[in-house]
Amino acid sequence: MPASRPAEPTGPARDRLVVAIDGPSGSGKSTVSRRVALRLGLDYLDTGAMYRALTWWVLDQGVDPGDSESVARLARALPLERSGGPADPRVAVDGTDVTTAIRETRITELVSRIAMNLEVRAELVRRQREVAQAGHVVIEGRDITTVVAPDAPVRVLLTASEAARLARRALDVHGSDDPTAVAATRDQVVRRDADDSTVAAFTDAAEGVTVIDSSAQTVDETVDAVLALVAAVDMSGSRLS
Ligand code: C5P
Repeated sequence: MPASRPAEPTGPARDRLVVAIDGPSGSGKSTVSRRVALRLGLDYLDTGAMYRALTWWVLDQGVDPGDSESVARLARALPLERSGGPADPRVAVDGTDVTTAIRETRITELVSRIAMNLEVRAELVRRQREVAQAGHVVIEGRDITTVVAPDAPVRVLLTASEAARLARRALDVHGSDDPTAVAATRDQVVRRDADDSTVAAFTDAAEGVTVIDSSAQTVDETVDAVLALVAAVDMSGSRLS
C-alpha cells in the first residue's frame, strides 16, 4: 500500500492551532516552517525577522547598538508590518520594505547583540504572544516552544549537526559549500548560536517538545515529520481545545 499523507486538522481545531518551531541557525526551520504553514493554510511568523528588522532600524536611525536604553526605546516604537504570508513573507519598517536588507551580513553580525537586550526581548515577545494568541499560525524562532508559546499544541525543536548547518548556511549565503565558503560562514552560525543560547534555551528540548533531527533528511521528509505531529495532536483531540 502506498504511504498515505498524515491527516490534517480541519475546522475549529485548525483555527486554534499554533505550531511552534525552534532551532539554531541553519537547522532549516524557516524553509520547513513556511512549507508547513502553506500545507496547513496557516499564517506564518518569523520571529528572527523581527529581531533583524529592529537591528536594521537601529542602524538606520544612527543609534549606538551598545546604548541599551535607546535600543529598547526603538524596540517599543518599532513600526513593523508583516505581509505576504508563508508564500512570500515580507517585512517593512516605517513603510520601507526591508525583506532583503535584513539578510545582509552587517545585520546578521549584529542581531544577536540586539537580541541579548532583555528589554528588547520583552517587547518583541509581547508582540509575538499576541500573534500566538490569535492562533492559526506557525511561529519559528529560538524561544517559541519555551517562552512565546509554551502551551502550543505542537512544539518542535529542529536540530541538525553543525556540519550540516554550516553547509546549508554557506550554500544560502555564498552559493557554495566548499571549505572556503563554510569557513566564511562559521561566525554567522557557531558564534551566533553561542551568543543566542545565552538568552534562549534552544539547544535542548524542553519537556513536551519533540526533537526532529534534519541532518540526514530532505526538506520534504522534515515537513512530513512536522505534519505527522500536527495530525497526531489533532486526532488526540484534547490538546487543541
Ligand atoms: O532566525 P534568524 O537567524 O533570522 O534569527 C536572527 C537572530 O534573531 C538570532 O540570531 C537571534 O539573535 C535572534 N532571535 C532571538 N529569538 C528568536 C528569534 C531570533 O533571539 N525567537
